[in-house]
Amino acid sequence: MTPEPRMPAWLDPSPWLGGREATSADVERALGCDAPGPRELAALLSPAANPFVENMAQRARALTQRHFGRTISMYAPLYLANFCTNGCAYCGFASDRVQPRRRLELPEAEEELAKLKEMGFDEVLLLTGERTSHAGFDYLLECVSLAARQFHAVGVEAFPMTAREYALLAEAGCSGVTLYQETYDPRQYDQLHRWGPKKDYLDRLAAPSRAMEAGIRTVGLGVLLGLSDPSFDALCLLRHAAHLQRNHWKSGITLSFPRLRPQSGNFSATFPVDEAWLARLVFAVRIVLPDVPLLLSTRERPEFRDGMAGLGISKMSAGSRTSVGGYGEAEPATEGQFEVSDRRGVPEFCSMLRNRGLEPVFKNWDSVFRDEEGDRHG
Ligand code: SF4
Repeated sequence: MTPEPRMPAWLDPSPWLGGREATSADVERALGCDAPGPRELAALLSPAANPFVENMAQRARALTQRHFGRTISMYAPLYLANFCTNGCAYCGFASDRVQPRRRLELPEAEEELAKLKEMGFDEVLLLTGERTSHAGFDYLLECVSLAARQFHAVGVEAFPMTAREYALLAEAGCSGVTLYQETYDPRQYDQLHRWGPKKDYLDRLAAPSRAMEAGIRTVGLGVLLGLSDPSFDALCLLRHAAHLQRNHWKSGITLSFPRLRPQSGNFSATFPVDEAWLARLVFAVRIVLPDVPLLLSTRERPEFRDGMAGLGISKMSAGSRTSVGGYGEAEPATEGQFEVSDRRGVPEFCSMLRNRGLEPVFKNWDSVFRDEEGDRHG
């Protein structure tokens, strides 16, 4: 039996949890603090902050406007393959789930990319499961090169890689890597990741650092809310982000707040997070990290997404499909990685943003910079 992974000291949030209960004075201090950190985040997530949620929302809105203007950056996910050897208990693509398995061949990937272009997107996030013989590193690299010829920003959400592999992705035009730890609680992590390479907690934890070291410009971090104590995971997320910012100041960070959604396998949340708590988490994180892009996907209900746009959240997807080949064909309800909740199309979503005084931004990064950097490094 492999021993349970141990959390490194730089990540451990216990000094800010489980001690004395935060008070109203702590929350007020956190709301006015110039350099908030884990202590302030813990106070804003504590029961003492219940009467302050409106103040938190107002501060989150003001900070979002100050750092991002009245804009929402738009991106689209593209599922390349759903082969996977991992046994993540919460995922519809886990190797024990009955799913039709496939990968997009390059001409098919090109068609899906063309569909996203037609929808107006200029930033795409390419997703696969664990590295397999069907969809391994070389396949992903080819897809990145293909996407980089058409899109200004290309991100990858796949398996942890070596520094050399991340460098090759960056050379091929990948500007972002998303890799969620899912939960930072080592015990929960060990139980939920039943088998496969993803069982290696520490390797996954170290991968964002390798990506930044190798020249990836932006790394996306996140936890899957519902798997563990959300306050514990939120504090670890902040500590992880701070660790990366300290050690890799040239790269940027984004944070996401996915909640567990229904999926084939019917795993249900051990620590359910409701919308009110999710909203408060977004406000609190915006207050402690005022200039970090915060993402909200189509997992959430349209009404909730509408309310959160610009209220902490600065980057959103729309019209998303979570199955392989989903943009070119009608998506079967049971085949995605998880159920999409906001099924509105891009025009409808953008008109909602404009009605709220927000401008959707499809191109916020110019591939000219990427190409110039490639020339410098090459
Ligand atoms: S979460 Fe990712 S690694 Fe885990 S089973 Fe799903 S696709 Fe595979």
